[in-house]
Amino acid sequence: MKAAVYPGSFDPVTYGHLDIIRRAAEIFDELTVSVLNNKIKTPLFSVEERVKMLEEATRDLPNVRIDSFSGLLIDYARKQDIHVAIRGLRAITDFEYELQIAQTNRKFSDGELDTMFLTTSLEYAYLSSSTVKEIASFNGDISQCVPEFVAKSIYAKYGYDR
Ligand code: ADP
Repeated sequence: MKAAVYPGSFDPVTYGHLDIIRRAAEIFDELTVSVLNNKIKTPLFSVEERVKMLEEATRDLPNVRIDSFSGLLIDYARKQDIHVAIRGLRAITDFEYELQIAQTNRKFSDGELDTMFLTTSLEYAYLSSSTVKEIASFNGDISQCVPEFVAKSIYAKYGYDR
């Protein structure tokens, strides 16, 4: 069985992430989307909230499983017996950072964890969780960026009832 993990902050999940999830789920038999509990970043949503939103947004995809982890991706992947990590590329600016992480993961896992990149669908190339949060914090329209139930949760965090 071919399995992959798609790790990330998903704070919160956007249509850009969902596009990558859908496409990766078609390539692999099982896809684990795993929320990284990153102590350095200050997230808007807790890990539990992010997991719940991802579960709701991927309900129609039977081979997608949602999980969370802390620590090193290579340790997590080894425990789950997963050998491929999925990452999304939006622009050349993502590439430099992602390349370094991919090479580090391959090196430090003794070649056991490879990274597969999916390039963004053009309509989502501009989209990031940070931009969505920024727009929502000023009560702007984010309906084209995230599912409706996610938008509601973001607005609620900023004190807007819409
Ligand atoms: P991280 O903090 O790990 O970068 P993110 O949630 O920001 O977490 O992103 C997770 C992954 O999804 C990254 O590989 C990122 O490049 C990718 N990604 C984010 N937004 C998009 C998008 N609009 N299109 C394609 N890939 C995306």
